[in-house]
Amino acid sequence: MVQKMDEIRIENLKVYAYHGVYAEENERGQDFYVNAVLYTDTRRAGREDALTLSTDYGEVCHFINDFFKIHTFQLIETLAEKTAEQVLLHFPLVKEMDLEIRKPHAPIGLPFESVSVKIHRGWHKAYVAFGSNMGDKRAYIEGAIRKIKKNERIRNLRVSSIIQTAPYGEVQDQDDFLNGAAEFETLYTPEELLDFLHQLEQEAERVREIHWGPRTLDLDIIFYDDLVLDTQELTIPHADMHNREFVLKPLCELAKHVRHPLLGMTVEELYRAL
Ligand code: ATP
Ligand code: CA
Ligand code: CA
Repeated sequence: MVQKMDEIRIENLKVYAYHGVYAEENERGQDFYVNAVLYTDTRRAGREDALTLSTDYGEVCHFINDFFKIHTFQLIETLAEKTAEQVLLHFPLVKEMDLEIRKPHAPIGLPFESVSVKIHRGWHKAYVAFGSNMGDKRAYIEGAIRKIKKNERIRNLRVSSIIQTAPYGEVQDQDDFLNGAAEFETLYTPEELLDFLHQLEQEAERVREIHWGPRTLDLDIIFYDDLVLDTQELTIPHADMHNREFVLKPLCELAKHVRHPLLGMTVEELYRAL
């Protein structure tokens, strides 16, 4: 069973603010109501009766109030998106949150009680494998790791040691690889994370030529939480990771107990089964 997280709840926080598509809404303003569920772990705070070990809901309320008042967005979708992101960035013990924004006085011209947007956002655990076999391989890898570390939507980065491996696949006539793996938490969706990794590959002057051919930098998503995804652009877990020593060996350093959501084996078991 997946363990349930603890919740801190804020109900109907009322904020007068200026969001809306119509100029009148931006000038005159109206009441917005906020419901938030902060998913966290209150165990230690609860046992030790110490606010410093928890998330101060008063502080969160003021934070949301200030954020609502400082900005003016057209859409409550945007307001919800940006508010959730800022709360997740500023209150590190909050792992996930539900955020509902109600707008009971929206200019609709019909009788209604309220309209609202509700979203769920949070930090996701991702594993990425990296490799390089062209040019200054170590510099390409270290450059990417630096940029990953600097990205504010990524936190708690851990990187494996870097190993040297022979080329994999049909194209054997190329230089050895340097390979490794990284673990981090991210606010990105899988698609956004892939975009970010592609951007890093491009910044490393990667040219997409032969499949499995030489490259300055390759960044593959191995796991994203225990998500199973298979679309045109993205297969998670990575479709071939269980056959690759150069993925499993570094991954073992970071995540040997993590279980492959489809194969049902841990990273360590997959590595031993090679
Ligand atoms: P392999 O995926 O077998 O290691 P590769 O890394 O050489 O091969 P690329 O040319 O780097 O392949 O990537 C081709 C496309 O694969 C990417 O543009 C991306 O859309 C897709 N892809 C699918 N699943 C993943 C994943 N888990 N991580 C990264 N890219 C993926
Ligand atoms: Ca690859
Ligand atoms: Ca790739």
